Amino acid sequence: MKNSDVLRVLLAGSSAGDRQWIIELLKSGSSWRCEFIESDSGESALQQVQAPGGPGERILLAAPLADMDAMRLLDRLLDMQGITPCPVVVITPGNGLELGPVLLRAGAQDYIGEEWLSPYVLARAVDNARVRWAMERDLSARDDALQRSEAFARGVQRLTQTIIDGAGALVFAKDLEGRYFLTNRAWRERVGLSEQQATGITDEAVYGAQVAQDLRRNDEQVLSSGRLIVAEETTYQQGRPVHYLSSKFPLVDEAGRTYAVCGVSTDVTSLKQAQAALQARERELQTLADNTPDILTRFDRELRHVFVSAAIERMTGRAPQAFIGRTPRELGLPADLSDCWENAVRAAFHAGQAQTVEFSYQSPGGLRHFSGRFVPEFGPEGAIEHVLGVLHDDTEQKRAEQDINRLLEEERHYTRLLARMAQASRKMHASLSADEIAQVLTQQAREILGARRAVTRLTLEGTGARTLQAVALADDAHPTDPPPPGTLLTVPLTGQGGQQIGIVQLAGGPYGDFTAEDRAVLMQLAAIASTGLENARLVASLREADHRKDEFLATLAHELRNPLAPIRNGLEILRRSGQLTGPAARARDMMERQLVHMVRLVDDLLDVSRISRGKVDLRLARITLQAVLDNALESSRPAIEGSGHSLVLHLATEPVWIEGDLTRLAQVVSNLLNNAAKYTPAGGRIELSAQVEGTHAVIRVTDNGTGICADMLPRVFDLFAQVDRTLERSQGGLGIGLSLVKKLVELHGGDIRAESAGLSQGSRFTVRLPLAGPEGQPPPCLESEPGAPSATPCRVLVCDDNVDGAESLSLMLGLLGHEVRTVHDGAQALDAVGTWRPDVVLLDIGLPGLSGYDVAQRLRADPAMAGVLLVAVTGWGTEDDQRRSARAGFDHHLTKPVEAAALEAVLARRKPDRPRAD
Ligand code: ADP
Repeated sequence: MKNSDVLRVLLAGSSAGDRQWIIELLKSGSSWRCEFIESDSGESALQQVQAPGGPGERILLAAPLADMDAMRLLDRLLDMQGITPCPVVVITPGNGLELGPVLLRAGAQDYIGEEWLSPYVLARAVDNARVRWAMERDLSARDDALQRSEAFARGVQRLTQTIIDGAGALVFAKDLEGRYFLTNRAWRERVGLSEQQATGITDEAVYGAQVAQDLRRNDEQVLSSGRLIVAEETTYQQGRPVHYLSSKFPLVDEAGRTYAVCGVSTDVTSLKQAQAALQARERELQTLADNTPDILTRFDRELRHVFVSAAIERMTGRAPQAFIGRTPRELGLPADLSDCWENAVRAAFHAGQAQTVEFSYQSPGGLRHFSGRFVPEFGPEGAIEHVLGVLHDDTEQKRAEQDINRLLEEERHYTRLLARMAQASRKMHASLSADEIAQVLTQQAREILGARRAVTRLTLEGTGARTLQAVALADDAHPTDPPPPGTLLTVPLTGQGGQQIGIVQLAGGPYGDFTAEDRAVLMQLAAIASTGLENARLVASLREADHRKDEFLATLAHELRNPLAPIRNGLEILRRSGQLTGPAARARDMMERQLVHMVRLVDDLLDVSRISRGKVDLRLARITLQAVLDNALESSRPAIEGSGHSLVLHLATEPVWIEGDLTRLAQVVSNLLNNAAKYTPAGGRIELSAQVEGTHAVIRVTDNGTGICADMLPRVFDLFAQVDRTLERSQGGLGIGLSLVKKLVELHGGDIRAESAGLSQGSRFTVRLPLAGPEGQPPPCLESEPGAPSATPCRVLVCDDNVDGAESLSLMLGLLGHEVRTVHDGAQALDAVGTWRPDVVLLDIGLPGLSGYDVAQRLRADPAMAGVLLVAVTGWGTEDDQRRSARAGFDHHLTKPVEAAALEAVLARRKPDRPRAD
């Protein structure tokens, strides 16, 4: 202790004298600068010890105390810090030899018995106590540090164990012989060993020789290199591989010697499996990508290719690797293609939506067409990481589409062509004149084949060596234009016999030359036209024949009428003369009947030919069905009764009104009745019924005669149709009656049906005629009024070149009381009229020299002859003939052979009071 330092002496003692004595002793026994702090009790001494002190050392000198003994004091001091807070010297009563060692063990640094107190001893004791206390304090401090470090080491060990046990990885350490001396819980659980079992075990015992060898290799690498290695290790658990990623490193002692290998192994089996699956998937995808014909390419945000499938090589001729990490533009792809791809990729990144593209590329094999989509690919965070382009080569598809379109177009072309050919064919077949067919052929050929000019030339044989030409021009062409450029296409028209009947020629095809197809089309059209021309020729000749037949029938009827006229007149004369009796009278009656029959045949023949030529005019009037039946019965009754048939009538009691020509309808019914009489063996039964059924008047004529066989039924109404030509001719007729009946009924808007159960089963003919409307008054009856006054005698000039006809007519008129003169030609007639001034002139039309029309016209031209009644008496009886005679100036037209009654009726209507010249 340096002399300058102050020693603070805490002096505890109950006796103040003792304390003073001790102060004196210490002062005299030492050279220290001492500062004395006195305490008269143990408690205050303890407080002083704890009170903060100034600099310098302290020491407690404890003399005997009243409140606590030295042991107690020491206990309390030791409680405070483990050692006394400052050096303690206890002054014991007596020599202190007994108590002293106890006090030292209790923590005092020294003691002095009162008996020995001297300045020197006290100073030595104080000094010894100070040294001893300092040594104890150091010892105590070291002990504390040691304890703390041991506690820390234990904590670290616990922590380490916790960490390695808590780690999911397997942690272990093996000594140089490969014996485990440290393992964590995970390791032990994995291999199924307790800590005790694990300690000292080797890899061979745990995993078997093969695996142990692999593991040992890694351990040796660690040992030889002295460094950390990371290796994949594989062990087997129940035959299944378990993969680890192991970090292995050496453990080194303080001397730097490696004494162990420590390892941390993480089980990466599932990671490896996932990785393997991922790799397999990637391989799969790669295979797929490389083998799909589509181009797959992935772009990053900088528009660089990060993946390209093998198909790109087919398109660009460049390997996929060449694309990776470069943008289309950097790759030097054509600008339009780069733009197309880059814009689409940008848009996909920007909009987050797939973009479609179409582009063409001049690939090494030629121009190819692509379509594709650029699709954004989202990462797990939802951000677009890449854009995948899927590009499809549409070239073949487009080509196929084009092929299909071309085929469709061709098909449409041929369909149109066929339709136009069909139309042309229809038109040509509908035409029945050569001119029309030539026109249609020319027009259609030009239009269908698109020529500028078409010409058809026909050489018509049979109708004279006439040449027919038809020309068709394009809309903008003119007949005087020079012939259009390009080749001509000429095809012959061939008749049925193979003879050439003309040609059709086209000039100026739409594309210059004509094709083989054009020729085929034109030949087809020419063939159709040839058939049409042949048909037209046949139809024309048929028409011609038909026309000649009608002409012949009309002439025949007319010529038959001429000889009938004198016969009728003669018979009338015989009747009126009343001279014939007995067989002669019967013969005359018979002749009259046959004449009627003959006249009807002639009339029917004429009617049929007229109806065929559409030359019949009906005199329609509102008439009753009853009137029709009366008229019919009147003319048919003789035939019915003549054959001894019974006639049964079922007639409506109320008048049934129809619109019709009375004469013609009576002719219809009478014809049916006559047939019934004709085709029913004598003594048969004929029924005539007439009634209203719905909107029609229905007339039925039923007989029980020969009947009609089923196959003939549908044909009985055909012209000249007869069921059995072997039947007696006198009954047979010509087979025109029913044809005429049907035509007349149809002209009235009605219909007729024939029924028969078969031969000998009788027949039924049903006529249906539309009823007339309910309104309207019955028209004045046109029928000849019964009891009409007979003509007053007058002068009649008869002019006919048929001498017998003229003579017989004159005789008959004479018998009727008229004055008659006869001439045989027109000139004589005019003479006679001029000189004799007849009241009536009965004039034949077909006269030699002046015809009847000429005579009539001349007479009518003379006002002096205005009052003469001019009557045409002729074999020409058609409406046309009647109109013509009326135009020539005739007042009446009578058809030969003229009935006496009809003649009388005409003469009776003559104006009686005409002034006569003579
Ligand atoms: P025709 O002059 O031969 O009588 P139609 O035209 O009047 O000519 O009749 C045609 C044919 O129909 C007759 O030839 C006859 O065979 C048959 N026919 C007509 N009416 C009857 C009938 N009532 N019964 C049986 N056959 C009939």
